[in-house]
Amino acid sequence: MARYTGPVCKLCRREGMKLFLKGERCYTDKCSFDRRPYPPGQHGQRRSKFTEYGIRLREKQKVRRMYGMVEKQFRRTFKEADREKGVTGENLLKGLERRLDSVVYRLGFAATRSEARQTVLHRHVEVNGKPVNIPSFKVKAGDTVRIREKDKEMARVATSLETVERRGVPEWLELNKDELSGTVKAAPNREEITLPIQEQLIVEFYSR
Ligand code: SF4
Repeated sequence: MARYTGPVCKLCRREGMKLFLKGERCYTDKCSFDRRPYPPGQHGQRRSKFTEYGIRLREKQKVRRMYGMVEKQFRRTFKEADREKGVTGENLLKGLERRLDSVVYRLGFAATRSEARQTVLHRHVEVNGKPVNIPSFKVKAGDTVRIREKDKEMARVATSLETVERRGVPEWLELNKDELSGTVKAAPNREEITLPIQEQLIVEFYSR
């Protein structure tokens, strides 16, 4: 399945919440969701009632779109989470947060997760001193993620870093702005993932 390359603001409107897919623009009055907080399309303003299935589907789609993944990857991440010990829904969220592209975004080296994905794919990122160009690479406690020495002057990294304070760096990561590096202090726990997600609905969606 091809990666979605259409207008991303439509996705926020479809899911009924801001997914922050456009970086700085999301915090300005140009945000499409703030202007038109209803689903896109001719019948978008009609009141729609979701079925039980629809509620679960929307929750899954919302999270998948938040992390910019295609269905196959997302389902694979879910299966991995299901195989791990513990609560599947929590494992899923922790697994998503530990993805390298997500960590690069969380540390403020990119304005959005899709930009973070590009940054990783173009080999601008090192983990423990070695270049890693796999966005789905899972970081673990003690790992150091940094922008490669020769890429430290990249203008877009500097711009993203200026705005990271607005988003905040999660507790489980430690940012060193001067070095353009970050350390994974510990694996994230559920309380530190403050996104409005009802992960149990996703578990129910895939278990139907
Ligand atoms: Fe979503 Fe608004 Fe950002 Fe567009 S600008 S991606 S609608 S949060």
